[in-house]
Amino acid sequence: MNIRCRKINCKFNHAGTCHAREVHVCRGAYCATYQKDQRKLDLELASELAPTKPNNVPLSCTVCACLYNHDCRCAANGIAVVDNEASNHADCATFIER
Ligand code: SF4
Repeated sequence: MNIRCRKINCKFNHAGTCHAREVHVCRGAYCATYQKDQRKLDLELASELAPTKPNNVPLSCTVCACLYNHDCRCAANGIAVVDNEASNHADCATFIER
């Protein structure tokens, strides 16, 4: 799964692309794999400047309320993850309620 992510302070985020071994999106449609890297700043650095490479991260998703979810699998071509500053979660922006 190609995952573009704007949770820039995550330890798996490199210039707006996820490089985790696998990502789990859980109920509530947020990334449960997110881990804050204390050394990174909360700045939206250069994700637009970096070349976009397909990252093909294995994704599991248990958001059964999502239109793209079939038998606990995400059928989207790729997902976008955004920074929810209010909750400090990394929310799946591709989520569409059925
Ligand atoms: S928040 Fe989730 S999707 Fe974003 S880089 Fe971290 S592990 Fe990947």
